[in-house]
Amino acid sequence: MNIIVCIKQVPNTTDVRIDPATNTLIRDGVESVINPFDAYAIEEAVRIKERCGGKVTALTMGPLQAETALKEAISLGCDDAVLVSDRRFAGSDTWATSYTLAAAIRKLEGFDVILCGKQASDGDTAQVGPGISAHLDIPQVTYVKKISEINEKTAKVERMTEEGYDVVETPLPCLFTVVKEINTPRMPSMKGLMRAKAAKITKLTAADLDADPAALGLDGSPTRVVKIFTPEPRKGGEMISGSASDVAKELAELLKAEVI
Ligand SMILES: Cc1cc2nc3c(=O)[nH]c(=O)nc-3n(C[C@H](O)[C@H](O)[C@H](O)COP(=O)(O)OP(=O)(O)OC[C@H]3O[C@@H](n4cnc5c(N)ncnc54)[C@H](O)[C@@H]3O)c2cc1C
Repeated sequence: MNIIVCIKQVPNTTDVRIDPATNTLIRDGVESVINPFDAYAIEEAVRIKERCGGKVTALTMGPLQAETALKEAISLGCDDAVLVSDRRFAGSDTWATSYTLAAAIRKLEGFDVILCGKQASDGDTAQVGPGISAHLDIPQVTYVKKISEINEKTAKVERMTEEGYDVVETPLPCLFTVVKEINTPRMPSMKGLMRAKAAKITKLTAADLDADPAALGLDGSPTRVVKIFTPEPRKGGEMISGSASDVAKELAELLKAEVI
C-alpha cells in the first residue's frame, strides 16, 4: 500500500503575530514544528503500513527549512520524504497550495491513501486536504477518528460529527483528514532518529511538476488577504443579578438599547 502523508511546518506558538505592512505571519524568531494535527496523520500512516505493508511518504510544500519537519517525520516511521519548494509557490492560497501538492503527488509512485491533518494551527482553514482530493478527483473523508478496516481496495472509517460519528465506506484511493482522537502519536525511536539523520530528502521545484505556471503561487491564487489583524481583547462583561425575571427584563432593555 502506498501511503502519502501531507505535513505542514507551522510556528510553535498560539500567539501568531501578523506583519501589518505585508499581512503575512511573522515567522522570524519563532521555532517551527510539525502542525500538531499532522503528527496524528503521520502516526496513522505508519499504523496502516504496519497493518497492510507498503510505504509511507511524507510530503510538504514550504521553504527549505521545512526539511527539518520531513526528517522528523522519518524519525517517526515514514520511509521517504519529499519537499516541494520554489519561489514561484510564494503567495499561494489554499487553492494554489492544494493544486501544487496534487501536482507533486502525481509525480510520486502512485498512491492508495493520502492522509492530512484536520487543519493547520496557523492558517486554520481545513481546506488543503479537501482541495488536494478535488484536484486529484478522488474521494475524501474528513474528520476521521478511526480507520476500522482497510485493504488495497476499500476502507471503513468513523468520521466525527457534532452529534457522534458516521461510519463511512469508501473505495481507495481516498484522502482522509484526521482528528486527534484517532491515535496517540509515538515518540521517535533511536533507529528512527538515525535513519532521519542519514535520510535524503527528495526536492521538487515548479519545473519538476507538470503544472500550469499560471496556477502556481500568487498568480494561481483566486483569494487575496485584504486585511488581517489581531482582534482587540474583549472588555470585561457586565454582571446582572436578581431574580430570573428581573435579569431577563434588564437584559432585554440593555439589548434594545444596543440595537436601537
Ligand atoms: C492570498 C493568500 C496568500 C498567501 N500567501 C502565503 C505566503 O506567501 N506564504 C505562506 O506561508 N502562506 C501564505 N498563505 C497561507 C497559505 O495559503 C496557507 O497557509 C496554506 O494554503 C495552508 O492552508 P492552511 O494553513 O489553512 O492549512 P489547512 O487547510 O488548515 O491544513 C489542513 C491540512 O492540509 C495539509 N497541508 C496544509 N498545508 C500544507 C503544506 N504546505 N504542505 C503539505 N501539507 C499541507 C496538512 O495535512 C494540514 O493538516 C496565503 C494565503 C492566502 C489566502
